Amino acid sequence: MGRKILIIGGVAGGASAATRLRRNAEEDQIIVFEKGPHVSFSNCSLPYHLSGIVKNAEDLVLVDTEIFLKQYNIDVRINNEVIAIDRENKQVIVKNILSDKSYTESYDKLILSPGAAPIVPRIPGIENVNIFTIRNVVDIDRLNQFVKQSNIKDIAVIGGGFIGVEAAENLRKNNYQVSLIEGTDQILRPFDYDMVQILHKEMTDQGVDLIVDDKVSCFEKDKVILASGKEISASIVVMAIGVSPETRLAKEAGLEIGTTGAIKVNKNYQTNDSNIYAVGDAIEVYHALTHSMTKLSLAGPALKQARTVADHINHKSTLNKGYIGSSAIKVFDYNGASTGLNESLIKVLDMKINYEVVRLILSDKVGLMPDAAPMHFKLLFEIPTGRVLGAQAIGKGDVTKRIDIIATSIKFGATVEDLKDLELCYAPPFTTAKDIVNYAGYVGANLLNGDFKQVNVDKVRELVESNSAIIDVRERGEYARGHIKGAKNIPLTELRDRIDEIPKDEPVYLHCRTGQRSYNATLALQNLGFDNIFNITGSFLGVSFYEYYNDKRLNRESIVTEYNFR
Ligand code: FAD
Repeated sequence: MGRKILIIGGVAGGASAATRLRRNAEEDQIIVFEKGPHVSFSNCSLPYHLSGIVKNAEDLVLVDTEIFLKQYNIDVRINNEVIAIDRENKQVIVKNILSDKSYTESYDKLILSPGAAPIVPRIPGIENVNIFTIRNVVDIDRLNQFVKQSNIKDIAVIGGGFIGVEAAENLRKNNYQVSLIEGTDQILRPFDYDMVQILHKEMTDQGVDLIVDDKVSCFEKDKVILASGKEISASIVVMAIGVSPETRLAKEAGLEIGTTGAIKVNKNYQTNDSNIYAVGDAIEVYHALTHSMTKLSLAGPALKQARTVADHINHKSTLNKGYIGSSAIKVFDYNGASTGLNESLIKVLDMKINYEVVRLILSDKVGLMPDAAPMHFKLLFEIPTGRVLGAQAIGKGDVTKRIDIIATSIKFGATVEDLKDLELCYAPPFTTAKDIVNYAGYVGANLLNGDFKQVNVDKVRELVESNSAIIDVRERGEYARGHIKGAKNIPLTELRDRIDEIPKDEPVYLHCRTGQRSYNATLALQNLGFDNIFNITGSFLGVSFYEYYNDKRLNRESIVTEYNFR
């Protein structure tokens, strides 16, 4: 006689748990309750309906109730909301939303995968605007229909997280006037401030009115009023300031809630009631690098947790080493990916960790290939162990390959020495013979050895303003086309003949286009007896990207005579 297993929520975690349970055992009765009209849809593809990349909203639904029944013998009940859990009697109370009738269903095991709901704060005047959120197929269909039918022009997206940025991009692709309003000084927190400037620039280049460091103070008819006093015209508002875990059922049933406000579970995703499991956006998980509990609204972890639960229920061995948070995003022509720790997270959590940063800009494939493009790469590693802690990559090419390698390396406790040694696939259309990940290992190991000193692009403005000695080692023509104000041009090809022009009594900061030639110059000068030489990582290209958006936004004087983005 099989067991009766109930699942609350029929999308990422819920649908995965159900099918894995069925693969594990044929005799169990499995019922999935979903309060919405669809199960198993691709949440992550929802924004792409706004641009028409996903043409029909129905295509977002991957598996329907009939397939669940016929292929898996799983009873999926859409439009059925679980309104209470009665732990004492091991049953749930369910409301059929269409008939408004309630009924009970008993369980041997119960799995919660109710997800997280978009946060809609009570901002004054909110009743004056058409507010939309994006969580499911109904939401995106409603937004898309409204946008198309009401002949609107201006849309404000509030919140620069993944969903906000993706919504803004896909709406902009349909030629709407899109403003993206972010309360902090940057969008997309998985990227550090220095890296995200590339994406800030891309958003504005593509015509999105990106506003950072300004909060919504109130709404008026067809208008968003910001704390700065700025008025943004908007016929509709997409609210994407974040999500809040769906914990009401758990709380009311006396299940423990963790310090983050999400449901607390053990390493097998059992709540404090061993017959009740919870997975996905509703739970908190252990972060293997920060050693603290965190909320992780990502599809991959939800699916893996669901599989673990199904296996644990069926007495199979499971493994849970914690999470490091890997994510990717497309922002118009750029791709971004990140994993593990970044500098801002280390600061926010006040982590007592000694680390160093490798910042590289290298071609993502052999330069002869027509679509070769610079890839911006940032690696964090621990000192003195060299243990890899995290990385971010932004470029037009395959950033996810590089970040996936780093994510894998972190999982296996790799060091920068290991990155040097990785044997990766190579052919000119894909990458370079030594991949950027290998280079990150080389530079990291050099830094660990104390072979050279560096400063990052975010320090260059300070250097310019303090009249520091900056030497541009690019060729004369490159310098003439644009350079850092006050920088002296001594091309690498002339360096050894012009050694007398380099000061010995103060720090000297070298740069080229990306940091490679200036690294060679740094070592040459060190070998010639200079001991106060710094390489500017990211160099002129990095400085141009780092400065551009804020130069325009703040209308401040540029520190370069001309930018260079190629
Ligand atoms: P969900 O998949 O949200 O499923 C929860 C379901 O439970 C909901 O359908 C809800 O209606 C139902 N439910 C809640 N309460 C009840 C109840 N009481 N009774 C019955 N049913 C109930 N992640 C990535 O990794 N990459 C991406 O690119 C990405 N893009 C995203 C884009 C968007 C627009 C959104 C919204 C999310 C995106 N995510 C992405 C996040 C990812 O989709 C979630 O992390 C994942 O879906 C979480 O799975 P879950 O099962 O916890 O919740």
